[in-house]
Amino acid sequence: MKALKQTSSTGMNRREFALAATATALAALPLNGLAATKDEHGGPVIITTWDFGPGANDVGWPVLQSGGLAIDAVEAAINHVELLPDEFYVGFGGVPNEIGETTLDAMMMWGPTHDVGAVGCLKRIKRAVSVARKVMEETQHSLLVGDDATRFAVRMGFEETSLTNLRSQKFWEAWVAKNKESSAWDPEPIGEQRPLEGHDTVGTMAVDAQGNIGVGCSTNGRNFKLPGRVGDSPIAGAGAYCDNEVGAAVATGNGDVMMRFLPTYHTIELMRAGATPAEATQAAIKRITDKGYSFDGGLVALARNGEHGASKQGWENNKFRYAVRNGSGSQHILVKP
Ligand code: ASP
Repeated sequence: MKALKQTSSTGMNRREFALAATATALAALPLNGLAATKDEHGGPVIITTWDFGPGANDVGWPVLQSGGLAIDAVEAAINHVELLPDEFYVGFGGVPNEIGETTLDAMMMWGPTHDVGAVGCLKRIKRAVSVARKVMEETQHSLLVGDDATRFAVRMGFEETSLTNLRSQKFWEAWVAKNKESSAWDPEPIGEQRPLEGHDTVGTMAVDAQGNIGVGCSTNGRNFKLPGRVGDSPIAGAGAYCDNEVGAAVATGNGDVMMRFLPTYHTIELMRAGATPAEATQAAIKRITDKGYSFDGGLVALARNGEHGASKQGWENNKFRYAVRNGSGSQHILVKP
């Protein structure tokens, strides 16, 4: 395994390189062409999507408060949601695909090095975001998929185990008794997307006390999806994105539509050009609706200075929330249309 690790021009592997980049950013010196981190920032702050957001932030916040790295806080927060047995759309116990198997997509991105690791259609491993982190830190690759991603996880020491629990098994059995096949077999003309049967993603982003930015996401994607389906979550710029000089953004919703527009990349680029997080997320969603798509989806963005904002399309008005935790306390914010 060690022999596979990427070495940089400095002779360091990716993890050592990331830590060195962080230290160097602290000293405000350029490293291998990467811009030095600006001194001003709004950290520590952590933001997580949806109703599991406050609980996730409660796990990630102590990491930031004690001076830990944003990437560690993000991983801890997402792991918390991945392991909740009653959370239907993320990790263990997640709603299965058309043939009754739960498969997971996840990604991590680390601002100081602009490094990405991701897994798509990961099977039989509970903490998908931690496997994504291993891809980022232990290999030269950015995305591993399917059974081979599972084999990689096992090589990295993760336990191979069933992701099905009694609840998800019964849910699938009830669905299969009434349905011959996934609704994903039914292509919908632009502008006529029907609400999906169920989907959510935990997306977490943080600025740490040193001004490093990390982001991650994890999901089982979409209920009763076709076997092999990989959604937007493990695609950098689609499910999540960050830039240490600008901020971070996460996406949730109909990934099959949203990934066509790289909306988190778009959001960050708009913020780089001067838009606030609220303005940038709104414009990135408008880019999709301007093409005629009617879809359920949301974007949340966090600027390096701690400012945050979000926009949504579709969904009923009291549905989409995100949670913020910073030095001033906790908030659970309803995203209005
Ligand atoms: N974006 C996810 C997917 O399509 C689902 C969600 O966030 O609701 O895989």
